[in-house]
Amino acid sequence: MRLIIFGPQGAGKGTQSARIAEKYGIPTISTGDIFRWAIKGGTALGLKAKEYVEAGRLVPDEVTIGVVRERLHADDCQEGFLLDGFPRNVRQAEAFDEMLEKSGDKLDAALMIVVPEEVSLSRILTRRSCLECGRNYGVDSPPEHNWTCDSCGGKVVERQDDLEKETVTERLRLYHEQTEPLKQYYEDEGLLKEIDGLGSPDEVFSRIVGAI
Ligand code: ADP
Ligand code: ZN
Repeated sequence: MRLIIFGPQGAGKGTQSARIAEKYGIPTISTGDIFRWAIKGGTALGLKAKEYVEAGRLVPDEVTIGVVRERLHADDCQEGFLLDGFPRNVRQAEAFDEMLEKSGDKLDAALMIVVPEEVSLSRILTRRSCLECGRNYGVDSPPEHNWTCDSCGGKVVERQDDLEKETVTERLRLYHEQTEPLKQYYEDEGLLKEIDGLGSPDEVFSRIVGAI
């Protein structure tokens, strides 16, 4: 199964991605997580990505596309994958189509999670995530013990790029400007599945499974 998932910040992509990956036995590739880990580890990629991620802007396409191309070559991606956060603009979508064509693979579906702007904003403000594994929590759905991750014991905190209002607004603006056109792009390819992102994580997940 080869899938991509997109939607505005706070639409619940991270939460749903974890469930989809588990159900279909495929790895999730989150470009946001890749950049955050690279920045934390101070790698060459981290140094390149840092200023963009901190400002809520898009990391340059040539960097991002290279990262994904390399990641998709790994053994664990040969039977399928779920891409979360990529492609994020039409240029990345075209580059991704070229990758698929080269490897003779087909995308099964492009999942677009739809939520109203005020919901997306309030979810961004109340979400927390594990510094070690990236697992998502919310103020209303904390880990069992004192903000330590249920999966790995890591510290669960606010994401740095969620703290500043300007950064959050910039990411939402870029979503509308750069990422929303993917709706048309994947509609034209006959792959678009629009999913209502309102309701509990279980409800949204069953809509996704139904659409797939
Ligand atoms: P969000 O969807 O909440 O903005 P992500 O974890 O998907 O969070 O991304 C965090 C940051 O990583 C983005 O603001 C951007 O700087 C960078 N990033 C992630 N994916 C991409 C991508 N496909 N192209 C360019 N930059 C990206
Ligand atoms: Zn964790």
